[in-house]
Parts: sequence; structure tokens; C-alpha cells
Amino acid sequence: MTDSASARSRQTRIVHPEFETAPGFESFSTPVMRASTVVFPDLAAVRSADWRNDAQWRYGLHATPTSATLMQHLAQIEGGKHALLQPSGLSAISNVYFALVKAGDDVLIPDNVYSPNREHGNWLAHDFGVSVRYYDPMIGAGIAQLIRPNTRLIWIEAPGSVTMEVPDVPAIAAAARARKVVTAIDNTYSAGLAFRPLEHGVDISVQALTKYQSGGSDLLMGATITADEALHQELKRARMRMGIGVSVDDCSLVLRSLPSMKARFEAHDRSALALAHWLKARPEISAMLHPAFPDCPGHAEFTRDFTGAGGLFSVVFHERYSPAQIDAFVEALELFAIGWSWGGAHSLAMPYDVASMRSTSQWPHRGTLVRFYVGLEDEADLRADIERAMQAALG
Ligand SMILES: *Cc1c(COP(=O)(O)O)cnc(C)c1O
Repeated sequence: MTDSASARSRQTRIVHPEFETAPGFESFSTPVMRASTVVFPDLAAVRSADWRNDAQWRYGLHATPTSATLMQHLAQIEGGKHALLQPSGLSAISNVYFALVKAGDDVLIPDNVYSPNREHGNWLAHDFGVSVRYYDPMIGAGIAQLIRPNTRLIWIEAPGSVTMEVPDVPAIAAAARARKVVTAIDNTYSAGLAFRPLEHGVDISVQALTKYQSGGSDLLMGATITADEALHQELKRARMRMGIGVSVDDCSLVLRSLPSMKARFEAHDRSALALAHWLKARPEISAMLHPAFPDCPGHAEFTRDFTGAGGLFSVVFHERYSPAQIDAFVEALELFAIGWSWGGAHSLAMPYDVASMRSTSQWPHRGTLVRFYVGLEDEADLRADIERAMQAALG
């Protein structure tokens, strides 16, 4: 202890302890480094601090070594250079809008988009003077005809999170690049493992880390991943201005789950495929909306661009069943819970009234759609559960 330190009161020494943190200690976990205030070595460091420089620590809201480690992992998974963490997947979507779009700009959104993204677009159109138009997700290179001089941003989702169409991402991205329009893809479905959009010309990949990255159905987080430096700075500035940050405790939970993500994703994929093959042959089902099946629009694009599917797929029940009967089927399931947020160990099922969710493109099916998320339960038990619920509710 220095002389000045030993002269201080016990209380002051509790606030300013003199010790070296755990010399010689090593483990596999990323230390949880919490901070609001980040302490600068001197005033020169304060005055030369630059928010653009990711290597400088400035404020706990922006990053600590814990969140920075997670950002690095996420950028690596998708072959990007930068990631920014947000308190939810939806917040990552919102940050893209706030960073890039201003009054007078035009935004294109696929008609099968994740509903809260549509809600956000409608809000900007209604209250903020932004033009928002919806396009047929299967438009491909035809998107070029929709681009206007003031088009700033094109959203892509692959596949659509309820109806599962897989768009021609490279074609949309190329048309956008030719007109200097930024593209952002909601890539939550693939976790960045089965599809790498930055390699297909997309500018921003959005992940809801709430799903596979967390894997525990117990936290919310989102991220944007980019390769372009200027775009990263635009997203970073919007995040900073809005005062958005994440808890490093949550970051440490995601870091804990990341090493097992690929193994979990592959297990979900195997079970979901097996279950989908079995369901496809059932007389109750009129269409199998799993991108690995030819029934699913974008099957060819999926086969070309994706290396796997994970646990999510939808089915359309035969139109002879009323929506009330399908509700009864979903409620009769015991192993499939009723809930929105997938990506964890537990299976889920949810019916959707798709026709009411569309504005421009035609929905070709008349029967009710049910989206399944296949968890990590034994696949034979899940099949038996579905069979029993079908017997109980559909006769
Ligand atoms: C869950 C989800 C989101 C939003 O994530 P939250 O963390 O729940 O806000 C966004 N897009 C897709 C495709 C999702 O499945």
C-alpha cells in the first residue's frame, strides 16, 4: 500500500481498494465487465476520445470488453467487420430505420416481413413523412422497377418469418447496389450460420439474438452486422444519439450459448426436417412451407444459397378445417407451447391468418397456416403429440 493510501479511512479504502485483479487466474468464460463510467487515464485521453474509434472505451452504454467480445464474435460468424448490439431484435430493426431514413425518403419492404417491422414502416409513413411501399417477396431482379430516385433502404427477409418464401437475395442486392440503395436483411432465421448475406451483396444483416444465439428463451437482444465502415458509423451514431445499450450480464449469457449454437441449430434442423417429411404425407396438410420442400416458394433459391434450415417451418391445413378447429388443434398440443419467440429448447406452434397480414401480394392458400418451431425434444415424441392433437381436434 502507498503511504497516501494507508492514511485513508476504511470507508475510502473500500471504495478505492488497492489490489491487483486475480493475477494468474484463467478460465474459459468471458469476464463480465460492467460499467457506466469508464475511467480515463488523463484528460488528454478524454479530449482525444473519438466515438468513431471502436478501440477506445468511452462510456458503459456504448461498449465494455464483454459486449465488445460478443460484437466481434457476431461479426465473425457472418463474415462482417462490425456488429452493434441492441436491446432486442426489433430495436436492431428500428436502429436501421433511424440511422438511414429521413423525411422525404422512400423505403421498400417485403410483403411477408416480420410484422413489427411492417408496423415500424407504417409508423414512419404515417407520422414522419417517409414513403413506405411493400413488394412481392418473390420479385427478384424486378425490384429494379420499383426503385425511385429517393429510395434509401430496401428491406429483405429470408425466408419470410411466417410464410417462408425465400427471396432471390443476390438479385435484389445487385439491383439495389446498382442504384446506391442500402439493403438490410432480417437474417434471424439462419442465425448467420446457414446463410451469409454479406457475401451475397447485402449491406446490413440484422439478427434477433433473442433466438438461437441466446438459445435459452430467457433474454432479449439484437444486432446489426456490417462490413462497410461508413455504414457502421451511421448505425453507431444513431444508436449513440438514442442512448441505446445492452446489459453486459445478458451479453455474457449469449457468449455462454454461442459455442453450442451450431450444434443446436443442426439438431433443430434434423428434427424439423424429419417432422416436416412426416407431416407432408398427412392428409390434413395441403402445403408444406419448409424451404427444403418444393411446395415452398423460393425452394430453388434456398437450395442455391442456404446450407441449412433450423427448426422453423409452416404448414397450411386443408381448407375443410375451420380456423376454430385449427385453434383447437394448437391448443390440444402438449409439447408444442403457444408463444412467439423461438430459438430455445422448447417447441412452439402458432396459427396465423395470413390473408389479413398482406397488402400487395396475393396469398394463394385458403386453409389456415400454423407455424411450428421444433425444439430439442425427442422427435418421435413431437410426432406423437401432433398425431394425438390432430385426432382430438380434426377427427
Ligand atoms: C424474433 C424476431 C425478431 C425480433 O426479435 P426480438 O428480440 O423479439 O425483438 C425480428 N425478426 C425476426 C425474423 C424474428 O423472428
